[in-house]
Amino acid sequence: MRRCESDHLLGGIVARSRPCRLIAIIIAALVLLPIEASDAGWRPKIFKGSSRHAGPPKRVKAARPAKVARRSVAARPHGTRLAALGPVVLPHSALKPASPTCNPATFRVVVDVGHTAESEGAISARNVAEYTFNLRLAKLITEKLKDDGFAETRLLLTEGKARPSLFKRVAAANDLSADLFLSIHHDSVPNKMLEDWDFEGRKSHYSDRFSGYSVFVSHDNPDFAASLAFAELIGKELKAQGLHYADQYTQPIMGRYQHPLLNKETGIYSYDELIVLRKTRMPAVLLEAGSIINRDEELEMDSPERQNMIAGAVATAVKEFCEPRWDILGPP
Ligand SMILES: [Zn+2]
Repeated sequence: MRRCESDHLLGGIVARSRPCRLIAIIIAALVLLPIEASDAGWRPKIFKGSSRHAGPPKRVKAARPAKVARRSVAARPHGTRLAALGPVVLPHSALKPASPTCNPATFRVVVDVGHTAESEGAISARNVAEYTFNLRLAKLITEKLKDDGFAETRLLLTEGKARPSLFKRVAAANDLSADLFLSIHHDSVPNKMLEDWDFEGRKSHYSDRFSGYSVFVSHDNPDFAASLAFAELIGKELKAQGLHYADQYTQPIMGRYQHPLLNKETGIYSYDELIVLRKTRMPAVLLEAGSIINRDEELEMDSPERQNMIAGAVATAVKEFCEPRWDILGPP
């Protein structure tokens, strides 16, 4: 994934705050913010993670239009309380969705195949292009979601050179009015960490130093809170399968590829500059399913068992994201 965007994107952020509107939103956010939003272990790290995003303005950004806020409430993990409402009394009906929340039959997930046939991304330890891994896993996830009733799921294949393809993906997802965007990738390491070996008589490169999946979100997505909620569900499901996340992105050795870790339990990182996460108009997550530069993990990622495990975990996460939390809101 590293070769997708990061080389060209730093510095491309535009400030968008509006002071007058901010005050009103801050008041609304303080009234409505569930208690976990300030108590959860990951939350402070979100605001510390990037200096550009430190401080109150980013908290304000969590206030979203009603439709999106409703989905975020629905996606919030069990145990959410509304204690922060304090003395404010809202009619119970005000806490319920105005219309049926998520209907799998109409909920549209766009599963983006990372990279293109022309620009294939990383090369595995055994000289297989990342694009091949991405395409196979994204197809499997798409099939799994359709089998589970998410009939509107779309597999997004993009052509062309690397950077233009990023904007094509965003335009396609926005034109499709997707409800959720998931970009599928497989991981490698910075070139300086590569070691040489011979594979089938050909000089090849590998690094067995790191392994694991990782999940990325961007604070600049218009619905960061929902993006994070979906990322958390993916991380939780992958962890439940016994998989571990790649922790090297916290290490200084990663240089410019170092990213803030938002949740040390589930392996969620912020990667604010990624175009496909910040330009899409719906909640968006990028999944690095595993490392293909690690020789052992490449074999695992090549196995139907691992592919089915990950596809199943992602599908479960989508279902959990979609399903309303009636234990919070009461029966319909
Ligand atoms: Zn990639």
